[in-house]
Amino acid sequence: MTERELIIRLKNGIEVLSSKEYYFDASVIEERGTFCISHAHSDHMPRRVVGNEVVASDITLRCLNAKSKKQVSMASVDEITMLDAGHMSGSRMFHIEVNDRRVLYTGDLCTRDRCGNKGASPIETDILIIESTYGDPRYVFPPSDVIASLIRDEVEDNLSQGISVSLLAYPFGKSQDMIRILRDFHPYVDSSVYNATSLVRTDVDPLECRLWNGNNIDEPFVIICSPWLNRIKQAELMCNRNIKRIAMSGWAIDDNYKRRMGVHEAFPFSDHADFNDLINFVKGCDPELVITHHGSADSLAQEIKSRLGIDARSMRKGQRTLAEF
Ligand SMILES: [Zn+2]
Ligand SMILES: [Zn+2]
Repeated sequence: MTERELIIRLKNGIEVLSSKEYYFDASVIEERGTFCISHAHSDHMPRRVVGNEVVASDITLRCLNAKSKKQVSMASVDEITMLDAGHMSGSRMFHIEVNDRRVLYTGDLCTRDRCGNKGASPIETDILIIESTYGDPRYVFPPSDVIASLIRDEVEDNLSQGISVSLLAYPFGKSQDMIRILRDFHPYVDSSVYNATSLVRTDVDPLECRLWNGNNIDEPFVIICSPWLNRIKQAELMCNRNIKRIAMSGWAIDDNYKRRMGVHEAFPFSDHADFNDLINFVKGCDPELVITHHGSADSLAQEIKSRLGIDARSMRKGQRTLAEF
């Protein structure tokens, strides 16, 4: 490969290749190359670890080492700037410079401040590689604090009527948001949420919650549990008890979401940027090229071109070379 060539493609994660090789959210951590892991959600974590070093936040590194047999350490790479992605505890964006071009990889991002956590801020860059989960214009969410107080009201209403509430949330990320929002209700959590929370807890963010041991609880209570909580456990939790099931997701914008999830109530509370957030983030980064991936990648690329007049392309697996400069 010549000095000036720059290739960006989706293969072992997102690869940015020139005289140096960067791999973002790769499925295999190899010995050769620089491997950056944006956050601890399972679809961004490696499935196999061969090499010894990664670039990630302390929290992400802790989560990786907790689940991987092979332990890795932090690579010391001066040329990479890590920026808060605002998505979950320890989530980071990576800003690098290759062939005199600045490249920003966002991973999953959220630009809204949420539950006391700062949202991601844009930074000037030449090439922006951005997630597009909600890259379709119909996904626009109300402000996070408004939804947070609606969720609190809903919980309070139910408890006051003697009805317990179960909130379905992924163990990493939204569960911690719910623990913060519902702190005053002393929430119970299932073991997967408990374990995830133990890994991301810090002195400044103590995330107090109680582990549900599977026994009946006499008082009306709130429990935060993962959507894939064992069915038997769910049945136990539901048995002899009036429980209201609530889900929180950006997909709650869709009409059939409640039915699909089998819940009584759903709130459009997300740890991702909504459509407007994505467009504003791109504008703030002022790039010459945007590469969208994940979710509504085609739609977001199209909207960026038409609304902002910035060159944008979506990236898919199997596409060999997306950009050569
Ligand atoms: Zn994520
Ligand atoms: Zn993701």
